[in-house]
Amino acid sequence: MSDVLFVAEHRRGELRDVSYEGITAGRELADELGGDFHVAVVSGGVEAFAESLNTPEVDAIHTVDAGEEFDHDTYTAATEALHAEIDPAALVLPNSVNGLDYAPAVADELGLPYATDAVGIEYDGGLTVTREMYGSKVETTVDVAGDQFVVSIRGGEWAAASGAGDAEVSAFDFDESGVADGSRVQGFEEVGGGDVDIGDAEFLVSIGRGIEEEENLDLIRDLCDATGATLSSSRPIVDNGWLPKNRQVGQSGKQVTPKVYLAIGISGAVQHVAGMKGAETIIAINSDPNAPIFDIADYGIVGDLFDVVPALIEQFD
Ligand SMILES: Cc1cc2nc3c(=O)[nH]c(=O)nc-3n(C[C@H](O)[C@H](O)[C@H](O)COP(=O)(O)OP(=O)(O)OC[C@H]3O[C@@H](n4cnc5c(N)ncnc54)[C@H](O)[C@@H]3O)c2cc1C
Repeated sequence: MSDVLFVAEHRRGELRDVSYEGITAGRELADELGGDFHVAVVSGGVEAFAESLNTPEVDAIHTVDAGEEFDHDTYTAATEALHAEIDPAALVLPNSVNGLDYAPAVADELGLPYATDAVGIEYDGGLTVTREMYGSKVETTVDVAGDQFVVSIRGGEWAAASGAGDAEVSAFDFDESGVADGSRVQGFEEVGGGDVDIGDAEFLVSIGRGIEEEENLDLIRDLCDATGATLSSSRPIVDNGWLPKNRQVGQSGKQVTPKVYLAIGISGAVQHVAGMKGAETIIAINSDPNAPIFDIADYGIVGDLFDVVPALIEQFD
C-alpha cells in the first residue's frame, strides 16, 4: 500500500494539461512513498490517450473503455474499482470541474480522507498538503491522517511531464453493467465568446487597467498581431465589458501556463497572479517600479506602456 494512482482528464478528445502535470505530482509522491506510480484513463479514445500519457515517470497505465466523455457515475465506479484492484496509498485526481464533481463521491465511498486544491504534496511518514486560502493570500499546510487518502491537485502547479516512456498499458476489466445512470453528459455548448482558449496559448499578451480606455486596446491587438501572441487580460478589462470573460486570467478567470506571459499595465494582485504564476517566463511592463507584478516577473520594463508598446511593435513588424 505505497503506490499512487492518478486518473487523467480529457475533454472532447483532448487530454487536458492537468493530466501531464498530475503525472509529475504523482511520480514525486510515489517516490516519497517508495511505491509504483499508476495512471488511469477512463472513457474516450483510451488507447491513444494511454500512448500520450506513457511518459518516463509512469510505471503502469490502466485504460477503462467506458463511454466517450466524463460522467459522474462511470468515473466514480471505475475509480473505485481501480482503487480496489491497485490498493494505492494515494489517489490523485485533478482539482478541476470534473475532478471536483466525482472526487468527493469516491472519497466518501471509500471512506478515505480527502484534501482538495493541493498546490504542494509531501509525504514524510504522513501526508502533508499545501493549499492556498483567502484568494491565495495565505498558504496553509494540512496534515492528512491515515495510510490512504485522496488528494485533488490544482492545475498549473507542477511541470507537465513529457517524453516517451515504456510503462505497460493494460485494459482494466471494468464491469459497466452495475453503474448507476444518474447523470450523463448530453453535449457541449460554447458560451460567451468562446473563440479562443487562452489556456492553450504559448505566448499571452495580457492587458490590465493601465490601458485606460477601450479604444486603446487596439494598440495591444497590434502588438499581438506583430508577435503572434494571444490577447488576455486582468479582470477589470472584462468587468468593463472590453473583452469577453474567456480572456480573463486569474482566480475567477482562467489558469494559464504559457511559455511567455507579457503583463502590460497589470499591477499583480494576488487574484491575478493565482492564474498566471505558472507561466514559464513572465515579463511585465508597468510605470510603477513598486508594482507587485515585478516581484514575480523574470524581466521587467518600468515605463509608460504608451511609449513601450509602440516601440515593441516597431521592433517586431
Ligand atoms: C474574489 C475576487 C476574485 C478576483 N479574480 C480576479 C481574476 O480572476 N483576475 C484578475 O485579474 N483580477 C481578479 N480580481 C481583481 C484583483 O483583485 C485586482 O483588482 C485586479 O487584478 C487588478 O487589475 P489590474 O492589475 O489590471 O488593475 P490595477 O490594479 O488598477 O493595476 C493597473 C496597473 O497599471 C499600471 N499602469 C497604469 N498606467 C500605466 C501606463 N500608462 N503604463 C504602464 N503601466 C501603467 C499601474 O501602475 C498599475 O500597476 C479578483 C478580486 C476578487 C476580490
